Amino acid sequence: MPASSPPDRGPPVRRQAVFLDRDGTLNVDLHYLKDPERLELHRGVGEGLRRLRAAGFLRLVVTNQSGVARGLYTAKDVEAIHARLVQKLAEEDASVDAFYYCPHAPEEGCACRKPEVGLFRQAARDWDLDLSRCAVLGDRYLDVEAGRRLGMLTAYVPEPGSEGEYLEERPRALAEADLVASSFLEAVDGILQRLARGSGNPAGLPVAQVARLGSTDQRTGAGRTGGTSPPV
Ligand SMILES: [Mg+2]
Ligand SMILES: [Zn+2]
Repeated sequence: MPASSPPDRGPPVRRQAVFLDRDGTLNVDLHYLKDPERLELHRGVGEGLRRLRAAGFLRLVVTNQSGVARGLYTAKDVEAIHARLVQKLAEEDASVDAFYYCPHAPEEGCACRKPEVGLFRQAARDWDLDLSRCAVLGDRYLDVEAGRRLGMLTAYVPEPGSEGEYLEERPRALAEADLVASSFLEAVDGILQRLARGSGNPAGLPVAQVARLGSTDQRTGAGRTGGTSPPV
């Protein structure tokens, strides 16, 4: 065999993640939420996070929290919200792997407030990510923009119940996002169809099956057809 042949094992596979916005995406956006007791998850978030975990994706939260710079709450308050979020997810057997947040105000011009990509780059170093096989999922144009800057798959889910907000940015988000979904779960399934190792995955599992692994509760039946039967 010539010396230039690639080794049998190939290059190490870097990890995949879905970057999740927090307010308006995982939980109801109450605008500068300070009290952990008021935190409320959106429908389907627990199920969606379980599907991502089952398919081997890290779940990393990236959130702008300018309320810290504005003096509306402290870093400690942000940590308390995140602890509450972890607890509520655990009640649904769901989890995230890390939180990254920007505490700065827009006028500070930091490198970490979305749509700047500082936190995403930090996460990519922390977790050895292949960003070209990662996705961002959020309810605002700034989430889509950050994802596009890094060449990630972008999924836009306008927050249910907030149709009257952010109208001026919506056309850009609709036009530029790779996926537009009406719910968290629909966005997760779209991401898995595009990025799960299903398209050529070594185990040969259909994408839908990969997504379904680990979710044992009964299906709602929404939007999923039978498809290929998995090998038994
Ligand atoms: Mg948001
Ligand atoms: Zn910042």
